[in-house]
Amino acid sequence: MTSGSITNALSFDVEDYFQVQALASVCDRAQWDAFEPRVERNTNLILDLLAEHGVNATFFTLGWVAERFPALVRRMVAEGHELASHGYDHHRVDGQTAAQFSADITRTKGILEDVGGVPVRGYRAATFSVGASTPWAFKVLEDAGYSYSSSIYPVAHDNYSNPDAPRFAYRPPGTARLWEYPISTVRIAGRNLPCGGGGYFRAAPYGMFRRAIAHINSNEGRPAVFYLHPWEVDPDQPRPAGVELKSRFRHYLNLHRTVPRLKRLLNDFRWDRIDRTFGPAVGGATDGPMPLKLSA
Ligand SMILES: [Zn+2]
Repeated sequence: MTSGSITNALSFDVEDYFQVQALASVCDRAQWDAFEPRVERNTNLILDLLAEHGVNATFFTLGWVAERFPALVRRMVAEGHELASHGYDHHRVDGQTAAQFSADITRTKGILEDVGGVPVRGYRAATFSVGASTPWAFKVLEDAGYSYSSSIYPVAHDNYSNPDAPRFAYRPPGTARLWEYPISTVRIAGRNLPCGGGGYFRAAPYGMFRRAIAHINSNEGRPAVFYLHPWEVDPDQPRPAGVELKSRFRHYLNLHRTVPRLKRLLNDFRWDRIDRTFGPAVGGATDGPMPLKLSA
């Protein structure tokens, strides 16, 4: 069933359907509390699925979500998953100053650690928005106490920032300890093609992803880094009006395929949390959770 000896990194970006970039034009932050929340239900469904398969993953969670659904965060931690940060309320990094970014990630780390009772070491930027215009971002992350980032998807995409970034774990310039673990791609004819999840996972045939991850494991000897969102397992989510056609297409395409495909992925490969997948040579954790002093 499970092929190969390499363990891959599985992750989820815990945000609700009305918080994604594709719907930002019609879902104002000030109105978020007016939308029907689905993130708790959808994340619990994913947690059920992971429990059935005996797999742990990393959950990059919005501070906004953790404040409203603390029981969900505690379930992630209790079931052995890694709690990590997706920022407070999904602002793009390249839409912030270094000072605003520092405040956002520091605040979110504090919220998550207070709710979850575990240290938070990992960060993923909203919409993979760390790039050439934010050269300070990795140093700010390191200074805020993060050990790693998984904020680069090195493919050509109108919302992402780094088609030419390294494909595998690397030390971002200007940092002393921080590691970046990019989302997986395959290199074909001089171009990086996405195979690490997101909308592509619902659009392209499953076999393409299986072959790509097997190639990364067997031919390149590397773990794959894969990600999905809770809203991607929810074909019945409310559909706010007024979303432009391209965004609508991306957001709603083949949502019914996510769960069956995720089950195949869980059966076809070995998976674990990001911090355990990457050993100490590439900045991963070597032991259990570190003791954490909770704020009073
Ligand atoms: Zn996100």
